[in-house]
Amino acid sequence: MEPTVVCPKCKIERPLNHLLTAQSNQNVIFECENCNFIKRNIVTKKG
Ligand SMILES: [Zn+2]
Repeated sequence: MEPTVVCPKCKIERPLNHLLTAQSNQNVIFECENCNFIKRNIVTKKG
């Protein structure tokens, strides 16, 4: 299954691949296209 992340602000659930921007090895940025919430260094769930 594809890993997903839930936006802490608007609670929408989206696929990780669609929202995350990989910055370096473990640095990822979550950008919610629904509410424009941005969170850095989120913990990703590995499926
Ligand atoms: Zn959101």
